[in-house]
Amino acid sequence: MGSMRLHFLGATRTVTGSQYLLETDRARVVVDCGMFQGSPHDVIRNRIPFAYRPEDIDALLLTHAHLDHCGLIPLLAASGFRKPIYAIKGTIDLTRLVLLDSAKLQEEFSQSHQRFAERHPDRAAAEDEETAAELTAASSEDPAAATRDAEPAAVTALRDPLYTVENANASLALFHGLDYGTEVEVAPGIAATFLDAGHILGSAIIRLRVAEGDRERTIVFSGDVGRPGTPIIRDPTPVTSADYLLIESTYGGRTHEPQEVAIQMLGEAVKLTADAKGVLLMPSFAIGRTQEIVFHLDRLLEAGAIPHLPLYLDSPMAQKATEVYRAYADYFDEDTRALLAREETPIDYPGAIVVNSPKESLAIEQAARPFMIVASNGMITGGRIVQHVKALIGDPGMILLFVGYQGQGTIGAALQQGAKTVRIDGTDLEVRCQIRSISGFSAHADEPELLAWLRNFAQRPRTTFIVHGDPPAQAAFEPKVKELGLATMVPAWRESVDLA
Ligand SMILES: [Zn+2]
Repeated sequence: MGSMRLHFLGATRTVTGSQYLLETDRARVVVDCGMFQGSPHDVIRNRIPFAYRPEDIDALLLTHAHLDHCGLIPLLAASGFRKPIYAIKGTIDLTRLVLLDSAKLQEEFSQSHQRFAERHPDRAAAEDEETAAELTAASSEDPAAATRDAEPAAVTALRDPLYTVENANASLALFHGLDYGTEVEVAPGIAATFLDAGHILGSAIIRLRVAEGDRERTIVFSGDVGRPGTPIIRDPTPVTSADYLLIESTYGGRTHEPQEVAIQMLGEAVKLTADAKGVLLMPSFAIGRTQEIVFHLDRLLEAGAIPHLPLYLDSPMAQKATEVYRAYADYFDEDTRALLAREETPIDYPGAIVVNSPKESLAIEQAARPFMIVASNGMITGGRIVQHVKALIGDPGMILLFVGYQGQGTIGAALQQGAKTVRIDGTDLEVRCQIRSISGFSAHADEPELLAWLRNFAQRPRTTFIVHGDPPAQAAFEPKVKELGLATMVPAWRESVDLA
């Protein structure tokens, strides 16, 4: 009897770095190859060599275009992987935007780090030593990696970009576009079907049928599971059977605000801005959230619930992502397609002003009030939003409206928690604007929604692996999954499991 083994290489007890390797006697398939993001302890893992020889992999399957799922693909390709990468067609177009942007940032960061090192060799050396120590500490969580030592050569490499724009372009040439629901043989004995995950455009749940020796097993990777009822895209596909299941748990233990409440709060902020002749500034993720906010503003306007304020869309990435959304209207849900059929323009706001150059971006503040700005990125850690916050944070006539998750340690989170000042570009700025938050827009299912999705399994998986969640979320979620009669496991980083 042949062997079947699953290796958990990322998104284990954390929400980033998604990567899994399925190994049989005949084939090796990797699902997702995401970047670790967030804390330095997590980020350093991007520098730890892959847990396998990239040239030995038969195929890579990608669930969706978010960086924490696709972000290390250029590095994998630059490390010797040359085989096909399978993804839904729309995902490929979004991944192109994400990887080229990421590579550009990698190159810029590396250049500024090099300049810093030339000016302050002592401080750079101390930082490198610290980073090397973090790398060693992170590696030692993996018994095999503990034997690797961080030699001076590796320390120099810490300042290199993880990958370049050239690497990203080379990896993009490996992609093969799939349609939802069509089974494809991706490696000897392994057939994959991509089902809509309802998370962002092109997102997928991946179902693998794996034949090895005299048995066949079905393994389902949930990817990131979307929220039912999210506008534009379809709801997550119900899956009814699996021998093994990997389920994300980002919002384990938590329930989102209902979407209707979120929409109402959005409308209120627009009305307040109009009455006060102020500015409504919304930091937003470029892919998914921006399109969703524009959708809701357009619907509210159509319903006569808000006045028609000028809207500035100030994110080149969001603009390109919207173009991808437009090109894949066949992925839209029925409601959105019905609007299109009535010649309405559900993912466009009438008269929206697309801001192209950074110069135009800086000029927005001079426009006649009231007006609204949607800018990236969503957590004010970079992008054009930063200059708007800098210009308007001291202005009582501005409402800063958070419409998405704010990661710990970001300016966004500090403002949400009531910071009186924030430091931007080395200057402390007094916070005098209004700050509001809406938590009901989410690209992820909350706990009740995840459990509802799990209840679709008529055939109970032998093991349900709980992945892609921080430890408190997983601790809250696991007992609820057990209550459904499912056997669970919360795998650790680089843990491997034999599938019977
Ligand atoms: Zn995602």
